[in-house]
Amino acid sequence: MRLSLATEPAYADRPNKGFVGATPDAIVLLDGAGAPADPETGCSHGVAWYSHTLGSTLLAGVTQSADSLTAILAAGIEATASMHDFCCDLSHPGSPSATVVMLRRTANVLDWLVLADSVLVFDVLDAEPVVICDERETLTGNRYREPMNAVIRGSPEHLQALSRPCAHTATSTGDSGSPQSTPSPQNRR
Ligand SMILES: [Zn+2]
Repeated sequence: MRLSLATEPAYADRPNKGFVGATPDAIVLLDGAGAPADPETGCSHGVAWYSHTLGSTLLAGVTQSADSLTAILAAGIEATASMHDFCCDLSHPGSPSATVVMLRRTANVLDWLVLADSVLVFDVLDAEPVVICDERETLTGNRYREPMNAVIRGSPEHLQALSRPCAHTATSTGDSGSPQSTPSPQNRR
């Protein structure tokens, strides 16, 4: 398999929140997300730490386990959470999270998983590209984007508006409040 990998931080003076890693039969890509710089985000490690730790855990999982990608993702999120749940407040809506794309080849079968707003595109020979998206993030975000755009970016009102979709996600997962602990990705074969 021929690979070209590239990631770039959104801002030159901030850590790169992206992660991409690959083996001959698997690719894992994450885009870290979380509330903007705020001493009260609940996690002292930061978004880059979260996405890099989860990404490397998922790459190891997808290489070593024959479990479904959904199960590997759930185990990876749980393992990463356990590395800091004793010192960080993972129930905080600004606690780090990440989009996830996983692709695995087993013999002649491809498995893939797309969670949140990262996109997987298959360039199919002699056909239109096949684009795999998880549209739930957009559908949820649309409900909250207008109030966020109506206030000054970085202001207390903006941070308050920004925390609403995070809080909604934490509630809708139905777990103990962490938006990181209950993935519900698309998984197709
Ligand atoms: Zn932490």
